Amino acid sequence: MIDYEYIRSKTLEVYIECKVKSFPLNCIFLLKHYGLKCKKYSDLSLAKQKHCFQISEDAFTLNDIVFYNDNINPSRIMFTLMHELGHKILSHTDYLNKQSEIEANTFASNIIAPRIAIHYSSKNYHDVMNIFGLSEEAANIAFDDYKRWRRYIITHNNKISELDKNFYNHFYNKKAKKFVYKSSECLICGRKMYNTFNQDCDVCTLPRYTNSSYDELNCQLLIAESNWLYGE
Ligand SMILES: [Zn+2]
Ligand SMILES: [Zn+2]
Repeated sequence: MIDYEYIRSKTLEVYIECKVKSFPLNCIFLLKHYGLKCKKYSDLSLAKQKHCFQISEDAFTLNDIVFYNDNINPSRIMFTLMHELGHKILSHTDYLNKQSEIEANTFASNIIAPRIAIHYSSKNYHDVMNIFGLSEEAANIAFDDYKRWRRYIITHNNKISELDKNFYNHFYNKKAKKFVYKSSECLICGRKMYNTFNQDCDVCTLPRYTNSSYDELNCQLLIAESNWLYGE
């Protein structure tokens, strides 16, 4: 039996402990926080690399060092690294048994793309790929699981669990007054932006539409004007 709620509660513990407030995750940072060093296969001698590949095509952990194949696509590396973190967080001793493998995969899928964050950000598995950095296959699995998660809530009087409330609270941003899964800064004025893939904020995009010849000074004036107007 896989205890999904327990595994999800462990991912929330990691977010709280490491102050994770947006996606995609910084996997190397998380591993370091839990005392795991990372070593790429490509940094090892050819003989050692051969040995690594015999153990795993993707990654394995030995004496708190995560050895990983850095010649696979980034989404697979990310999943693999979080799978290894899952083994550590879930205190697995036998990494090769089937139950441990499923648990580590469940941990990886949920920590990379928590279902409640999928709810606020994604309309389909494509969005899950783009926002959280999962591979197509993993994004499909996560999105299907999200749909089950949502159906469960709908069929239970629309009540979310205590655990999901805690997820919501962790990602709720008081300034933005909403659930935040992505935060960035406007490339022009540096203003904080939430849940957007735009490179600049609404204020800075304005002059491009109103002036045919866009220039920096005009943009700054408009920012100043709108700051004054809207009192930020
Ligand atoms: Zn494993
Ligand atoms: Zn701006």
